[in-house]
Amino acid sequence: MGFLGKLKKLFAVGTSTAPMLEVVVRCDRCGEVVRSQINLHHDLSLRDDDGGRIYFCRKGLVGGGSTRCFQEVVVEYTFDANRRMIDRRIEGGRFVEEGE
Ligand SMILES: [Zn+2]
Repeated sequence: MGFLGKLKKLFAVGTSTAPMLEVVVRCDRCGEVVRSQINLHHDLSLRDDDGGRIYFCRKGLVGGGSTRCFQEVVVEYTFDANRRMIDRRIEGGRFVEEGE
């Protein structure tokens, strides 16, 4: 499945309530996998871009502490006006794709 297919699958989850975007990252420092969710209704902030309105979300993820590593992995997502993801960035870790 390609990247877009994965996105469609992600966005199909949670249609009965607010759509949630699953975030799974691996910390660069200790290798711990940290999971979180972004609520596409409440966690996004609206920004005016050159091409129109976009939504933006920045989130810091910290592991549970079992690895004694408290590095924050910061993810930044950009969405278009229809809340479709158009860009994502990460600092301090990397994204874990489904099936890894
Ligand atoms: Zn860590």
